[in-house]
Amino acid sequence: VINGIRDDDEFGVITIVTPTLQSAYYLRRSLAAEGLFNTNFLRLEDVAEQISAGVTTGEPLTDIQASEYVYQVALDSSIGTLVGGERYSPQLQAALHSTFRQMERLDESQLDRLGSANPNQNELVKRFTAYKKLTSNRKYGGEIARQAAEIVSKDDAVGFHSVTALGTVILVKAAPVQFELQVLFDALSERDNNMTVIVDESPSLHGSDDESISTFTVPTVADEIREVIRQIVQLARDNESLTRTAVLFEDDSYANRITESLQAVGINVSGPDRITLKDAPEGRFILGLLNVFDSDFDRLAVTAWFSSSPIGDPSHGGQPIPSARWDAISRSAGVVRSVKNSWSLRLERYQQKIVVDAETSERRGELSDDGITAAVSESKYTQQLNQFIQSLASRELPDKQLTWIDFVDWLNQLINDYLITDESGRERLSKLLKRLISLDSTGVKPSVSHCIDVLREQLDRKNAGIRSLGAGVYVGPLWTAVACPFDQVFILGMTEGSYPTIPRTDPLIPDHVKIDVDPERLVARSRSIADSKEQFQSMFVSAGKVRLFWPRTLPGQAQQMGPARWFVEVLQRLSHSEFIAVNQLLNHQVPELKEIQVNALPPEIAGGESELGVLGALEWVEDERSSQEFPLLKSNDDLQRSLKFQSERFSSSWTEYDGNLRPEGGSESSGSATAFETYATCPYKYFVSKKLKVQPTKSPEELTKLDPLTFGTLIHEVLERFSKDRLTQVDRSLTPEEDRGKLLDELNKHIEKLKDEMPGRSHGMWDLEFSRAWSMLQRWFRDDSEMLSRGMVQKYAELQFGYGNKPPVELMLDSGETIRFRGQIDRIDVSDDETRVHVYDYKSGSSKSYESLDRDPVNKGGMIQLPLYSEAARRLYPDADMSAAYWFVKEPDKKDRLLPPTDKYDETKARHRLKSVVKVIADGVRSGTFPADPGERNWRPGVGQTYENCAYCEFKKICPENKAFLWSKKKHSDPALSDYVALTENEVDYKDG
Ligand code: SF4
Repeated sequence: VINGIRDDDEFGVITIVTPTLQSAYYLRRSLAAEGLFNTNFLRLEDVAEQISAGVTTGEPLTDIQASEYVYQVALDSSIGTLVGGERYSPQLQAALHSTFRQMERLDESQLDRLGSANPNQNELVKRFTAYKKLTSNRKYGGEIARQAAEIVSKDDAVGFHSVTALGTVILVKAAPVQFELQVLFDALSERDNNMTVIVDESPSLHGSDDESISTFTVPTVADEIREVIRQIVQLARDNESLTRTAVLFEDDSYANRITESLQAVGINVSGPDRITLKDAPEGRFILGLLNVFDSDFDRLAVTAWFSSSPIGDPSHGGQPIPSARWDAISRSAGVVRSVKNSWSLRLERYQQKIVVDAETSERRGELSDDGITAAVSESKYTQQLNQFIQSLASRELPDKQLTWIDFVDWLNQLINDYLITDESGRERLSKLLKRLISLDSTGVKPSVSHCIDVLREQLDRKNAGIRSLGAGVYVGPLWTAVACPFDQVFILGMTEGSYPTIPRTDPLIPDHVKIDVDPERLVARSRSIADSKEQFQSMFVSAGKVRLFWPRTLPGQAQQMGPARWFVEVLQRLSHSEFIAVNQLLNHQVPELKEIQVNALPPEIAGGESELGVLGALEWVEDERSSQEFPLLKSNDDLQRSLKFQSERFSSSWTEYDGNLRPEGGSESSGSATAFETYATCPYKYFVSKKLKVQPTKSPEELTKLDPLTFGTLIHEVLERFSKDRLTQVDRSLTPEEDRGKLLDELNKHIEKLKDEMPGRSHGMWDLEFSRAWSMLQRWFRDDSEMLSRGMVQKYAELQFGYGNKPPVELMLDSGETIRFRGQIDRIDVSDDETRVHVYDYKSGSSKSYESLDRDPVNKGGMIQLPLYSEAARRLYPDADMSAAYWFVKEPDKKDRLLPPTDKYDETKARHRLKSVVKVIADGVRSGTFPADPGERNWRPGVGQTYENCAYCEFKKICPENKAFLWSKKKHSDPALSDYVALTENEVDYKDG
């Protein structure tokens, strides 16, 4: 066409009007090879601006400003309350804005018709009329195009010289022209000498050269991306120009995936930037900061902000904050939310506690140098965190009306002080902030919450900017690439239901009303799909080769999906068939459809270094060569260790990766009942908690009740205080009512202490916890009175042994070795004549798992407290009858409250069993035997399906998922495990001796 024009007018100006900036760029580049001069490339909207410049008046109305005017009319209750007023929400505002854009196209009579459809539409039209009034002196796109069209149509119009300046106009039509611009497009195309080049207006595909189209199917989207990368790398190997290659899609989630995968293999990417600011570090910084203020410094919001954003600490020279350390500190300190009630109080208390604990331990000589250094460091970090939070909290914006510039100033100062970013990040933010400042031109002072809503909405917007053009593979939505003369085009994601993307339903005007009023101007959903189809078809004309991809499953779904309808239409055409059933496609009966066999790819087609490694490894293993000899592995220590770890773990042998550690020498000759019980339950748990001393930090999020440990401690402490106080009363002269009153006082005192330690919990929660505890304590009080009435007297409460200068319990085993225990007995009752002794251990949980104590007095080593405490009590009362029981204060049923029943305890049998399990445990620890034993699979209330030993284990996260499988595979593989296996698997029954 250009050559034809040049035949008549060798040096005249030619203007090529293209649908997009991208098509302007790629057409110019493609045509420039032939030699171009005096030829301009412009979009239709640029032509409109150029022609009407100087003729139209008024400030241009930007999208964000329009949105602000929409906000004003949406809030106005005097217009109505059906679609606005009190029903206002940011979502409604966004919907109104989008619908108003379409309503701009309607004439008076159409607006009347829309308004008469129903009361909602009537109010909608009123709000639109109010919006038009507010924006009457502003210029917007449709108005500018209309004025430009008028100038083009009249040779004597003011401003006509700018039409002449365009020279001969070639209009490239590759996709539906936007409704607002159609009038200008028509006016230009009707002028003599101008002409329209239509890229494709027929519904059929390419036609003659079907060789240029290929279709592929892959199992998943991940496979699809890998295959595309492989094919692009192959293009590069074939010396094809990657700058004339495009990867297109409808679903925007492809943008990041493709971009990252191409960049990972060193291929540059160009095209529109489809990343929202909220996905970029600087956007996450702002969003996280708003969430922190919004949630009243909720710990989770604060730590999410810490870990997701590049934050500097202004009081430490802008150094990056130690986010992981601060997260752990805030957990350990028990922070929940609110700077005043939680952060300050708890961090200060935590810091003091660290110092006091460290000083005490140092005095006792229990703390090593490393321990002292760690405590000092923890204290410093805590202080830094506290200062950081206090200083940030002081920057909170007071809730009042303000100007946009005030809001942006506030934000800018926070960005300057806290955000770590580079020039490009700052630039992106500064563009956003400039847009916000432009809102002051609407003349209304917004509230802080409205400013924040607008900022959030803007952060969530796709960046419309072009990253770069022509510098690499073009990656973008298909509509951005219409009329671009690419050599190679990949169209991805052609799966049924997701291609084309189903347009969202307009919540304000239903489709049937749109169709009734004007389906073109109001863009019914059917119209959007027709437009997408036209854009899709134009690709087959503008591109050299097109490759279509159908992934058979979508991310997060297991079910196989058929191909998109347009994909099938292409295949029908390629296979000259009028009908193809999905079954034929799934059963490989359509030769034109290439199925990528992702499990059988040769290394030479790898799309990058890492894939080459993976495919090479697969081939190596398939050839049955030793994995140890794989060259990449031999050169990488980390991989070698990983492989050793995997193969040993999955082997049938008992290895160091399964808890088979080096013997320590000596023996486990002292400990507590709990430590020995932990080993008997799961040796690996013992190893992690007692040997490695790993301490899980609980998440202190707001709870509706106290956790079981805190509640149990509360009950224990109240009983201890009450009992100790009672023991000091020489004559025991208080009446039962006075005693009950003292018990209640103790409970009140301890609840108040807890309230102080755990601020921020609701009154309702404390009332409930008080009632729960008091009902248990009253039950205990009744039982206690009954027991004491039978001639027994409580003699000891919380009696310690093995601590300080108190002698430990020494258990001489049959082998001759002695094991020393320390511990604390909750209660010892003695008869008046000191011939009977009852030892008790209080439990605030359920008695369920203690039912087997009558058969096995130590429950396979998991419950050794009673025989051990009896040993301690025996030293005080060498000749008395000894009995011991767990006292379940929570159990409503009396028969479950004492287990085993006091008359069923057999001290001799219990001692015998205690010695045998203690031997297994001591030997296990000494020989370095620490397997992970999850126990039987069962169901626990509040936990669900789990393993017996793991249900409440704090180390679940660091234990292998397949622990039950591994344990079943290995437990009989080594004699070193046999004693432990016998202990936990062999049932004993002492009931009948
Ligand atoms: S999760 Fe289970 S197997 Fe792992 S340490 Fe805890 S109890 Fe043992």
